[in-house]
Amino acid sequence: MKSIDTKCVQAGYEPKNGEPRVLPIVQSTTYVYETPEAMGDLFDLKASGYFYTRIGNPTNAGLEDKVNALEGGVGALATASGMSATMLAVLNLASSGDNFIASSNIYGGTYNLFNVTLRRMGIDCRFVENDTIAEDIEALIDDKTKFIFIETIANPAGKVADFDKFSAIAKKYGLVLVCDNTISTPYICRPFEYGVNVIVHASTKYLDGHATSVGGIIVDGGNFDYLGNPRYPLFNNPDDSYHGMVFAKDFGSACFITRARVVGMRDLGAIMAPMNAFLTVLGIDTLHLRMPRHSENALALAKALKNSDAVEWVKYAGLEDDADYERAQKYFTKGYCAGMVSFGIKGGKEAAMKFQKALGLFKIVTHIADSRSCVLHPATTTHRQLSDKDLEAAGVPANLIRLSVGTEGIEDILADVLGALEVSQK
Ligand SMILES: *Cc1c(COP(=O)(O)O)cnc(C)c1O
Repeated sequence: MKSIDTKCVQAGYEPKNGEPRVLPIVQSTTYVYETPEAMGDLFDLKASGYFYTRIGNPTNAGLEDKVNALEGGVGALATASGMSATMLAVLNLASSGDNFIASSNIYGGTYNLFNVTLRRMGIDCRFVENDTIAEDIEALIDDKTKFIFIETIANPAGKVADFDKFSAIAKKYGLVLVCDNTISTPYICRPFEYGVNVIVHASTKYLDGHATSVGGIIVDGGNFDYLGNPRYPLFNNPDDSYHGMVFAKDFGSACFITRARVVGMRDLGAIMAPMNAFLTVLGIDTLHLRMPRHSENALALAKALKNSDAVEWVKYAGLEDDADYERAQKYFTKGYCAGMVSFGIKGGKEAAMKFQKALGLFKIVTHIADSRSCVLHPATTTHRQLSDKDLEAAGVPANLIRLSVGTEGIEDILADVLGALEVSQK
């Protein structure tokens, strides 16, 4: 399979003679073996096969193999949520006393995990901006630095990651580069082609695409050499919980994802339910049809917003005069920028309230990236604890409205948003 469109439809599950055409939902915690020796070998990782759904499940494997094929990796692991995918990826690289570098232009939930929870666990996050110059980023790297974390299209700020800069730094210091590719999806951007080593996803968003299933996925690019790199003792020291196995030696280029599964998932247990994996696979079957449509609708709406008197500014990387336009053209399939558009409404919080109440098609929800258009005002919801000044500093000004543009007809989308904008200014 060459075309990513074909992979969306067909990759990940290959039925054999007489088997179901559609990936079956295997709703079983456990799997049968005829001898205790056969089961023992599975526990020692001497043989591969399913033995307990926390470690692996055939339906989840269908999703994992599909997303792995789309991203071009060597293996993937489905998780209970996007947050657990990130958490597992982090704990697969860093321990208490270690640190890492992260762009602050990332999803708010990830920011909290990095800034509060991981610090409490003794893992120190050093934030930089997407546009911080390389020299200033390098000054933060020391022997205990384990990885760099970026997000392809930052939610909700809409900024596009500077892959070339971050991957050059990661290479120079022998650091793993981790990327959250949720908003772009592999249809629009394939970060492994730009030097990323590990990809995490909230499959909750466009991969599912229909707002049915919270989930996450980690994909291993297989393009980082852990063997003998002193930064990565977890891959080079014998693992006591597997009879002294050395992951970098015993699993080679797939050591990251193997360890994430047999240590990380074994211990943390944040597995995806097989039913959710099934629904997410169903979603991905149409990813290649939905992403162009989301992107075209969002671009048309962003242009209309730019021309509206009720709008102070618009952030969408697909707009030609946007600060991230060139990066989007460089890194994204056909320059598509997905469906998330942010804008500043004239009249601040008050106008934002009137605007949301006047919408019909766009529903108020704490979600993005499904077929149905929706709206969120961060200053009065996700970020409501912050003062106006703190909102500004977080890059989420009080007048920011985030739209997730769906796949409906563009004439209805424009009528709904432009009509509500008119009401908001009265
Ligand atoms: C939603 C989201 C997450 C978190 O995913 P959950 O499934 O809600 O845990 C992580 N990163 C990005 C970019 C997101 O949009």
